[in-house]
Amino acid sequence: MRSGTSRLRNGQHSWDVPLSALAPAGEPANLPVANGRTEPIVAEDQSAPRLPSAASGARPQTHGFSRREFLRWAVAATAVTEFTLAFLPRLGAALQEAVKEYPLVWMQAAACSGCSVSVINTIHPSIKNVILDQILPGHQIFLNYHSTLMAAAGKLSTDTAIETARKNKGKYVYLVEGAVPTLDNGIYGTLGEEDGKPITMLEWVRRLAPDALAVLAVGTCAAYGGVAAAKPNPTGAKGVGEVLKTLHISTPVINIPGCPCHPDWFIGTVSRVLLYGLPKPKELDEFGRPKLYFGKTVHNRCINRDYLDEGVFASHFGEAGCLLEIGCKGPFTYADCPLRQWNSGVNWCVNANAPCMGCTEPGFPDAHSPLYQRR
Ligand code: SF4
Ligand code: SF4
Repeated sequence: MRSGTSRLRNGQHSWDVPLSALAPAGEPANLPVANGRTEPIVAEDQSAPRLPSAASGARPQTHGFSRREFLRWAVAATAVTEFTLAFLPRLGAALQEAVKEYPLVWMQAAACSGCSVSVINTIHPSIKNVILDQILPGHQIFLNYHSTLMAAAGKLSTDTAIETARKNKGKYVYLVEGAVPTLDNGIYGTLGEEDGKPITMLEWVRRLAPDALAVLAVGTCAAYGGVAAAKPNPTGAKGVGEVLKTLHISTPVINIPGCPCHPDWFIGTVSRVLLYGLPKPKELDEFGRPKLYFGKTVHNRCINRDYLDEGVFASHFGEAGCLLEIGCKGPFTYADCPLRQWNSGVNWCVNANAPCMGCTEPGFPDAHSPLYQRR
């Protein structure tokens, strides 16, 4: 008789069962599911690299994040599927070479701050470990400006942003969260003052984007306009890439959409830029997103594909079945949510019986509305 428990998975469900209840090794066991069918149950592959998560039983750590732990996490976070652990030594060497060179300036425009909250809530590693000091001794990413996180205020804070750009031409990463209001010369979105006059976000982009190594548009509002640009869009809000085109600024833009942006997508992309420079064109899709995270549709990896194939559709929330009829936009939404999941791997939209709303797509939300009806 075997003792202990094993984590079992069946479609979207997983649970612990006594080993004694399992079929002998090598023999399939079957589990009754909906419609009188049975499906094989399989033990999770414990050898596969995984993000530490509450679901996996790992306890979130807030102190003492070691370099070794970070490197292990970085591999898992940035490349859950595409790379192997053979990449680890190269990543460590590259981190030591590259991280110290690039300050970050993070500005929030027409946004709800949800992307900041999402990224700050990363558990492994904590945002403190990522951007302040404990990743590699002596090698830091400098978050020189973030209007929500920074202690400085007023002139001191705006001077910091300006000085960072002046001293680090071609070396700093300029992050924009939220869309950029453009109507009436951008007066509907301002950040700080100069000579008693508000500085518009449009003006900040005009000043800081040209000399940046890259502009990172964090979240769907920054990437494509998103919620801030939804009809009737009274402020003329636009994605930062579109604004750069209007201003004839040629600095490369990398879009990391999502409403909000997933912390892994953000940290993985920043790491990619700092370690290896700008992504090659073939690494981005037609909407400027890293294919590493946005290369396949949600539908492609969805846990409900069996239901779809068998024609089982949910007609209301909570009913088992593919969520297409109640508005799922997974078939034309590119993101790795089914694989990566949210809240440190705890769950994701469809697994919580909520249709994918297509939050990473350029048309979100107008083109996807009504959100809970089939398109
Ligand atoms: S339509 Fe939505 S719920 Fe159905 S299989 Fe595709 S992604 Fe999953
Ligand atoms: S499943 Fe769809 S709506 Fe949910 S976070 Fe992913 S892309 Fe956005």
